[in-house]
Amino acid sequence: MNKTLAILGGTPMINKNDAKFIWPKITHEIENVLKKQLYKSISIYNRSGIFKEFEDNFAKFHGVKYALLSNSGTNAIFSMFEGINILPGDEIICPSYTFFATISPILYTGAIPVFCDCFDDGNINTKEIESKITKKTKAVIVTHMWGIPCDMDKISEICKQNNLVLFEDCSHAHGASFHEKKIGSFGDASAWSLQGQKIITGGEGGIMLTKHKDIFDRALLQGHYNKRCKNEISNDSPLYKYSLTGLGLKFRAHPLAIAIANEQLKKIDKFIEQKQKFVNLIEKELNKYKFLKLPKYIDKQPSWYAYIFQFDINYSNGVSVDTFVKALLFEGLIEVDRPGSTRPIHNLPLFKDPHKIMPRLYNKTINQTGKFDNALKFYENAVKIPVWAYPEDRDIMKSYIEGFKKVCDLIVRQPNLLLTVQNERNKL
Ligand SMILES: *Cc1c(COP(=O)(O)O)cnc(C)c1O
Repeated sequence: MNKTLAILGGTPMINKNDAKFIWPKITHEIENVLKKQLYKSISIYNRSGIFKEFEDNFAKFHGVKYALLSNSGTNAIFSMFEGINILPGDEIICPSYTFFATISPILYTGAIPVFCDCFDDGNINTKEIESKITKKTKAVIVTHMWGIPCDMDKISEICKQNNLVLFEDCSHAHGASFHEKKIGSFGDASAWSLQGQKIITGGEGGIMLTKHKDIFDRALLQGHYNKRCKNEISNDSPLYKYSLTGLGLKFRAHPLAIAIANEQLKKIDKFIEQKQKFVNLIEKELNKYKFLKLPKYIDKQPSWYAYIFQFDINYSNGVSVDTFVKALLFEGLIEVDRPGSTRPIHNLPLFKDPHKIMPRLYNKTINQTGKFDNALKFYENAVKIPVWAYPEDRDIMKSYIEGFKKVCDLIVRQPNLLLTVQNERNKL
């Protein structure tokens, strides 16, 4: 085999066209259910047909009573917040390192996001949660980053002791579990995106689960009207009288999207089992490189939305994460990525200066306390690869691992070759 790195003029490990991560896999089953749904209905007003089927399946899979579909994960999150009737000035404790949609919907409520730094695995630091609780704190939202569950024992305990509502953003973590209990079944309410890249996807869509009928009713009213509300909100509830109009927004999902998602839900356990097998291979081969800090997940079954590890320049003989990733891309490993929009978000204009764009609910800059060094470090050194989910993807997964080994071995044995390239690039 040609061992010269492609970035130094050698032959790439894999042909770019064979290196793509195509998700979801469009199977014959998906084609069939789509066709069936197409002739049956492409708009469903009540909790019937494919909506009822998916909501029931999803609720049962998690052992949570109430499920509510939505047209996006962002709106499913918005519905959770609406579910507890947040008031302006309420504080919501949240992670800084997450995708912004975990928290952006609360800007429509006037509540204040109180950001926390993360642990070394990218998940919210539980000590920070405790230290940031005030009299105004109403809820905590956590994201299971990249599919690795947060410490839900600890977080549930903190919320219970302080009488706080617990929300989970499970958009990376479909089917993951903590101590063999499904992620999304710990919180008072939880939300999942069903967007195109997510493990269970309909292209676009979202879903919320909750244990509480009062959260469900308010969430339902926020994004639905008439039939669903009349049928599902008890007519002796004070909310029932709003059923005809709802609260004015419309978050109804698309039946074709949900038909696709429903097919994938049937395979979720298989996906996770297969992804774990591939991760075992990755770990076996990449564990030995000191400059790669691989994720740890004791007592957890991650969903492996993606495999994220940290590049540690203290052990890489001077080779930067940038050069490392470029070398991998030259090898044809086109899915290797440094996540961009998933990052520390506390300093983004939307969260720092909401009054400049939404003066109706905010009148000043929101200043955060504490440091976010870990979030920044995690973001800057994170390298991401997809984890394939079907047994027939073994070859492509192996090519990625071989590509990594090729570059990593050079970092160990002849870093100067890469440093030359790195210095030349820096000069440009
Ligand atoms: C994708 C995602 C969302 C938003 O979901 P959409 O369906 O794109 O609206 C929210 N939170 C996290 C963590 C996500 O990954």
